[in-house]
Amino acid sequence: MVKIMTYDVLIVGGGPAGLTAGIYAARAGLKTLLVEKGLVGGQIAFTDNIENYPGFESINGMELAKKMFEQAKKQGMEYQQGTVEKINDGLEKEVIVDGKSIKTKTVIFSVGSNPRKLGVPGEADYEGKGIHYCALCDGVMYKDKVVAIIGGGDAAIKESLYLSNLAKKVYVVHRRDELRAEKSNQKRAFAKKNIEFIWDSIVTKFVGEQFLTKLILNNVKTNKETELEVDGSFTYVGYLPATSWINVEKDKRGYIKTDHKMSTSVKGIFACGDCTDKDIAQIATSVGEGAIAGTSVAEYIEELK
Ligand code: NAP
Repeated sequence: MVKIMTYDVLIVGGGPAGLTAGIYAARAGLKTLLVEKGLVGGQIAFTDNIENYPGFESINGMELAKKMFEQAKKQGMEYQQGTVEKINDGLEKEVIVDGKSIKTKTVIFSVGSNPRKLGVPGEADYEGKGIHYCALCDGVMYKDKVVAIIGGGDAAIKESLYLSNLAKKVYVVHRRDELRAEKSNQKRAFAKKNIEFIWDSIVTKFVGEQFLTKLILNNVKTNKETELEVDGSFTYVGYLPATSWINVEKDKRGYIKTDHKMSTSVKGIFACGDCTDKDIAQIATSVGEGAIAGTSVAEYIEELK
């Protein structure tokens, strides 16, 4: 007879939020499983240098993720690599992971978000052929070459700094004349000789042959069109939550709505991290939400008894 495993909590997604939820749930004595389809660590695994996570003056993202993962496993969290396909709700929930059924009393969604795209002509044609979304993953291809970063937030500026140590020239194309990124990173980027800012400009088209060769830019103030020759381009215009398949209440952008206990609109389903509705998406805020979600599931299960 096949024994059907029942968990107290199944966590979907292994970024900082999910891993922290795992630490808290496992420490509360809950039978905890974390399922992750890709790399444990989520987006931080693709971050070169983190300088605003308390306790670490500076730490590589992959290293921080590994520390969180090891800590969660040490506390008793189980881990499975796989894709969660579906959740059948009920007092006991059935989670389908790669076609196999897993029973759990509660679910925590910490599914994170994916890079937003610009939605302009040529974008789909040159993805992976000059258009990228992760400098740490793909930047090495552009050693001594010319690249463009699109965006003016923290991700764009941090990645332009990273690429400036590899590429010959980095253009930062931003739609306004002021950056949204942290002032300390702005200062560093302005001081770099090989980073040039192209202000008030949006990309209207990606052009190339087999590979991307140039960006068509439009200056939103003058309406003047220019061409920017590049070897590669990295888009950092924010992220979209990876929640399209999740049936709980969401806001109009797709972020999961939660209360102060990280409970969603469905009983026994919680959410934390970049997939929830909030203003500030930082590792520290994700970790905070993970701690709340991990503690709240323990309270919820206690109430069920
Ligand atoms: P973000 O802060 O939302 O910045 C997105 C950037 O893209 C903004 O500059 C925005 O311009 C621009 N943008 C948006 N849509 C665009 C479009 N259609 N065309 C051209 N430009 C467009 O996103 P993020 O940089 O990915 O950061 C997300 C969150 O993670 C933020 O809370 C951020 O602080 C955090 N984060 C922090 C760090 C860190 O080291 N502290 C590192 C990475 C991310 P506007 O400015 O004009 O809106």
